[in-house]
Amino acid sequence: MSFVVAIDGPAGTGKGTITKLIAQELGLVNIDTGAMYRCIALACLAKGMTTNEEKERIIEIANKVNIQIQHNGAEQEIFLDDKNVSEEIRSQEATMMASQVSAIPAVREIMVNLQRKMAEGKEVIMEGRDITTVVFPNAQVKIYLDATAEERANRRYKEYQEKGVNLEMTYEEVLKTIEKRDYDDSHRAVGALKIAEEAAVIDTTKMTIKEVKEKVKEIILERRK
Ligand code: C5P
Repeated sequence: MSFVVAIDGPAGTGKGTITKLIAQELGLVNIDTGAMYRCIALACLAKGMTTNEEKERIIEIANKVNIQIQHNGAEQEIFLDDKNVSEEIRSQEATMMASQVSAIPAVREIMVNLQRKMAEGKEVIMEGRDITTVVFPNAQVKIYLDATAEERANRRYKEYQEKGVNLEMTYEEVLKTIEKRDYDDSHRAVGALKIAEEAAVIDTTKMTIKEVKEKVKEIILERRK
């Protein structure tokens, strides 16, 4: 039987960082579902698509590609058709295209099935937008992380500066793309971002990563007893 910690929330709430730390501390398998949609996006970009207009072609790609998440200590490495794309999938282009491909219901169905398979018989911590509502509505632990759009843009902007990626973007541009993704992710027909019933909601706006991590850990340990 699986033990599933499901975490949802908009971009920039710290989901990625927190799940990585907790996976390491509690020995859970970390599954970043956003990285999977980003892989589809990358495969579509490679074929010259920048919108989700050509739905059939995108669905065909989603059916064909081989996505693997490998764990290298605390780090996750993402492979698309055997190529390590861990960095490439974080580009601004891939970020915006991921939101586009994820709005196609058939693409979501393929990803949801894959995510359920990845968790089979394991103790996992899985983060995304629809994990608590669609992928694992009966997860043992359901958490929704939130923060104001300004604070999330602030975090993303700092992260870009520190990592030396997307350096051409100003804070205002980062904020605009966060707001656009929030809108798109919460207004799509299938798998829209929303707070699940019984999910513990944590507003991380004024919290440090460590504080959020401790709070989430406390909830997991309570349920795992
Ligand atoms: O979490 P991350 O920012 O990497 O996700 C990239 C995009 O993938 C999101 O903006 C969202 O559109 C999509 N996504 C999704 N469902 C998930 C995870 C991500 O639709 N479970």
